[in-house]
Amino acid sequence: TAAAVEELITPQVSINHTQLLINGQFVDAASGKTFPTYDPRTGEVIAQVAEGDAEDINRAVSAAREAFDNGPWPKMTAYERSRILLRFADLVEKHNDEIAALETWNNGKLYDQAAKTELPMFVRLFRYYAGWADKIHGMTIPADGSYHVQTLHEPIGVAGQIIPWNFPLLMFAWKVGPALACGNTIVLKTSEQTPLTALIVAKLFHEAGLPPGVLNIVSGFGPTAGASLASHMDVDKLAFTGSTDTGKTVLQLAARSNLKQVTLELGGKSPFIICEDADVDKAVEIAHFALFFNQGQCCCAGSRTFVHESIYDEFLEKAKERALRRVVGDPFKNGVEQGPQIDSKQFEKVLRYIKSGIDSNATLECGGGRLGSKGFFVQPTVFSNVQDDMLIAKDEIFGPVQSILKFRDIDEVIRRANATQYGLAAGVFTKNLSTANTLMRALRAGTVWINCFDVFDAAIPFGGYKMSGNGREKGIYSLNNYLQVKAVVSPL
Ligand code: NAD
Repeated sequence: TAAAVEELITPQVSINHTQLLINGQFVDAASGKTFPTYDPRTGEVIAQVAEGDAEDINRAVSAAREAFDNGPWPKMTAYERSRILLRFADLVEKHNDEIAALETWNNGKLYDQAAKTELPMFVRLFRYYAGWADKIHGMTIPADGSYHVQTLHEPIGVAGQIIPWNFPLLMFAWKVGPALACGNTIVLKTSEQTPLTALIVAKLFHEAGLPPGVLNIVSGFGPTAGASLASHMDVDKLAFTGSTDTGKTVLQLAARSNLKQVTLELGGKSPFIICEDADVDKAVEIAHFALFFNQGQCCCAGSRTFVHESIYDEFLEKAKERALRRVVGDPFKNGVEQGPQIDSKQFEKVLRYIKSGIDSNATLECGGGRLGSKGFFVQPTVFSNVQDDMLIAKDEIFGPVQSILKFRDIDEVIRRANATQYGLAAGVFTKNLSTANTLMRALRAGTVWINCFDVFDAAIPFGGYKMSGNGREKGIYSLNNYLQVKAVVSPL
């Protein structure tokens, strides 16, 4: 029961895990300030967390710089670094259920999803990057015959990393795994909504033998701690995941300070295209999952469901019936499919978008309101008759609101699917190989899922076209984000 799980996790949140982690020590913010972090099921405060600001970012960056220049980290062999990552992965695996419970408590995501999918994926990511650590090397280049030319692949230095709240631990893994495998040191700013699990796992990292100062964690707010990190003169690299608007801000901060290298993973409005030959029942199920997974709070959510006109009516009826069957409730309970939205701000925003859909004459098929009297639960909502120029078809809603649009032919749906500022992901549902090939090439998105959606693996790259970001995370591609290439030339 939820009570039993709460009993299990409450002792995990001791005062040591709500402080900032700087130079291997849990410390208060320099200002002494704290901020509350909440349980989205009830809106109640779980804990007060140290509120880092510019001064704490300075302290953390100094620690990371010292660890990079003079600590044991740069002198270690890549194999030793790899072993620390592997020991860390083992420790997280050992504490899988408690960490997952804390993730659910602070975020509202399903406990089953956190414990059985996200934590194992987190562990897998660290093992994957541990595997890369001692396989990073340069090459020799047969250039001018009278010179010996080689390249060295070196860590960039101090990496600043800023992450969002929707997948607190997975975003940690996507960023910290490759940065450490490449030998960098890190200052990570967690999201103000979900500061807890990063601190718990960072403690395990030190138990695994990570030297002090290599991974520093500052909890705090975007415009203060986040902006200080993005504009810091001694940070060599910034990796950001969050909204497109904030992505623009941090890119400007980086440009105006020291031109640090920047990778951005931003928002999306991903099309999910269901062709006339699709198996309707399967398509309904996958389109439902593509949108409603994680309470609709996914950067790559399939938030524009394009359905061919020949199967539109059947699809719509079944999609509505599926949404009505969706079980909303306490994310700790077995059988629940949807928990609360992260906080009151997101909850209100989702309800505003639902109102805008109704006001713009989309047809509300089901849902549309809040559920319960406390916490931030939203009814699974389906709109039909959605037109491309409606706000619900253009903006990232980040909630359980499915917009269903009708199309006639492939050229038309390609044009409409691509008519967005975003380009993070896309889904295609068809039995026809030629249609799949045409769409796969034509869609301007960093990931195209064919007859599936949200399939992730440590080895599969992820990132956006257009205003969904730049650079790729995960897989071998992420290593490029954390390496400098040095050309060395000497006469033979
Ligand atoms: P957000 O942009 O509000 O915040 C993200 C992070 O940026 C937080 O840590 C926040 O504190 C920080 N921040 C805010 N203002 C800042 C500033 N002025 N300077 C520096 N840092 C600042 O986004 P969010 O609401 O936390 O997350 C949801 C967004 O993240 C959605 O748009 C979603 O699509 C996107 N997202 C993208 C991916 C991806 O891989 N592309 C993955 C997850 C989430």
